[in-house]
Amino acid sequence: MTTNEQDYKVALVTGASRGIGAGIARAFAAQGYAVAINHSGSHSAQAAASLAADLQQEFGVQAQAFQADVSHFDEAKALIKEVKATWGRIDVLVNNAGITRDGLLMRMHEEDFDKVIEVNLKGTFNCIRHVASIMMKQRYGRIVNISSVVGIAGNAGQVNYAASKAGVIGITKSAAKELAARGVTVNAVAPGFIETDMTDALNEEQQEAIKQRIACSNFGKVEDVACAVTFLASPEARYITGQVLSVDGGMSL
Ligand code: NAP
Repeated sequence: MTTNEQDYKVALVTGASRGIGAGIARAFAAQGYAVAINHSGSHSAQAAASLAADLQQEFGVQAQAFQADVSHFDEAKALIKEVKATWGRIDVLVNNAGITRDGLLMRMHEEDFDKVIEVNLKGTFNCIRHVASIMMKQRYGRIVNISSVVGIAGNAGQVNYAASKAGVIGITKSAAKELAARGVTVNAVAPGFIETDMTDALNEEQQEAIKQRIACSNFGKVEDVACAVTFLASPEARYITGQVLSVDGGMSL
């Protein structure tokens, strides 16, 4: 099947029960995509299901929640299989699922390092690994991986997170080289500090210190990240691959 034979495209967003992922899911729905909303466990099932219902009602598109812990190879495989079975194709994969387990290097527990790498880096690999054959057969696909300014510049207290997000950039560039000839692009978006649960965890003093390093002097919104993602995922972005687009208010300048 080519993209022309179905009048809507299908986007799978991992970690879409809240925060940036939910904003990205909403942006695809607004453009008429059928949206697969992935979340990791039963604690987020209600949020994912109600987001799906909202998107159906607000935009008249198909939207459905899919539970899978993307850090597990077989769960990621089952997720991709289920989304493909539901809509017959997958045009866009956004690897957004991510966690933090911050701590200074000298005090960081091994399991906190491993867990962040498993979700952020291996989860990204797992989903690309399983979606690649589908997109290559379609001769069309857009993969957008959510990295971070921290993966580019590093950050004290986040060696695990920075390593995972730098690794995501490495996967992006390598996969881009492997998949480009089949019409599949792979790009990354590197957000700076965006207003979500993840940044709400910072105290006021930490938030003020960070804002002083941002040229735009405020945190970004999920919509700022979502519009960069939908652009890179658009058919028109066919000649852009292996790139990292910073959405950080000039923080990395
Ligand atoms: P968030 O509010 O904490 O949401 C994280 C999402 O990931 C949730 O939907 C969560 O769902 C899901 N998730 C976590 N582990 C998962 C797993 N193993 N399998 C599937 N889903 C999983 O985070 P956010 O701030 O929106 O961040 C989204 C992405 O942007 C992350 O990759 C993050 O590193 C990146 N980022 C964020 C910022 C920022 O300032 N917020 C900056 C740069 C980059 P469950 O509740 O079901 O686990």
